[in-house]
Amino acid sequence: MKVAIMGAGLSGLTCAIMLEKYGISPTIFEKRNKVGDRFVNAEALLPVLNRPINDDIAYLADTYGIYLQPLSNIRKINIFSENKTASIEGHLGFINIRGRENESFENQLSRQVKSKILFNSKYTHEELLKEFTHVIMATGDAAYTTKIQDYKVDLTVTLKGATVEGKFNRYTVGMWLNNSFAPQGYGYLLPYSEKEACISIGYPDYIHNQKQNLDDLWEKFFQRVCKDFNQDLKITDRFEVTRYIIGMCLYPRLGNTFFVGNCFGSIMPAFGFGQLPAILTGIYAAEDLAGRASYLKLVKPLQKSYQNALILRKTLEQLDNNQLDKVISLLNTEIAQRILNSKRHDPLKIITYLLRPLTKLKVL
Ligand SMILES: Cc1cc2nc3c(=O)[nH]c(=O)nc-3n(C[C@H](O)[C@H](O)[C@H](O)COP(=O)(O)OP(=O)(O)OC[C@H]3O[C@@H](n4cnc5c(N)ncnc54)[C@H](O)[C@@H]3O)c2cc1C
Repeated sequence: MKVAIMGAGLSGLTCAIMLEKYGISPTIFEKRNKVGDRFVNAEALLPVLNRPINDDIAYLADTYGIYLQPLSNIRKINIFSENKTASIEGHLGFINIRGRENESFENQLSRQVKSKILFNSKYTHEELLKEFTHVIMATGDAAYTTKIQDYKVDLTVTLKGATVEGKFNRYTVGMWLNNSFAPQGYGYLLPYSEKEACISIGYPDYIHNQKQNLDDLWEKFFQRVCKDFNQDLKITDRFEVTRYIIGMCLYPRLGNTFFVGNCFGSIMPAFGFGQLPAILTGIYAAEDLAGRASYLKLVKPLQKSYQNALILRKTLEQLDNNQLDKVISLLNTEIAQRILNSKRHDPLKIITYLLRPLTKLKVL
């Protein structure tokens, strides 16, 4: 068996680590000239979106021997709508760094890989199939998948973010649901440390949203973050991602090609979280190649979570700022706090169901 992995990101590198554990040495092809050679941003792992997993980092270490160190754990999430604020507390997840930093998740994973990574790769999927018995498509780019097979694009999003200097509690995350600056989307503040944080907005590229001016939305968001955090933040770095695809491929495995990470459809539509599903698909593809399980069966729960997250997203997109205020008020109630902290139930499913009366949409 000769395995090529196309892409040295989260899913590709995880797949390589697992294949090596099973005695298979893949060849990894990476388009860039080093691992993580892109903008730096903070991302989050929120197990509440991936039940029954309660602690992503512990789960990956204990179940698969994949070791990742986040920047910090999340103890509190403050959620802001136009006029309301809710706080959720507990062991809520982790913040980690991505991109060219030494401690980014992709760099941590690459240090656990023994196989060769060939950088500056220009090989196409077709070329790799001629040389290898199996190809793992891990380019993080669903657009590539759409060239090869059917891929249901549910939405594309515009993302804009920045590194800011200020004073932060590194265990507290900020989230905004406010159509004034993130139409049908969201904003985040994820601290890197007590002194630096990553702030970002993301919203879908629906035709009516394309008329919006991104710089104006960003300015409103930035002012609002300064107000809610009661300080004048200083921007030191910026990034922008346009037409980021959220969707799902029709065939997770097509012949001897496995689609993993974003090429599979790992980004959960509700709030844009794709890291854990990306890592899991890398693991699952390796398990299939090692003859331990079927990739198609293993990805089924991810396909289900994706559908639930899509329903939640479509429901939230219907809400105006007044309704979002009501949702945020509800989050402060004891019952909501219990659901969100529940380790036994799937809060994604429950919240999707509870939100139904707020919309005219027949989503369930
Ligand atoms: C701004 C932003 C914020 C996000 N925030 C969060 C968050 O807070 N929480 C969360 O869980 N998820 C978040 N996500 C989603 C998450 O980052 C992705 O779902 C995840 O990184 C996908 O992993 P992957 O392995 O598919 O791709 P990646 O980790 O992106 O790796 C893809 C690799 O393939 C390489 N490559 C590309 N084309 C080729 C080619 N032709 N040949 C060879 N190599 C190639 C790339 O250079 C890259 O190294 C965010 C995404 C963005 C853009």
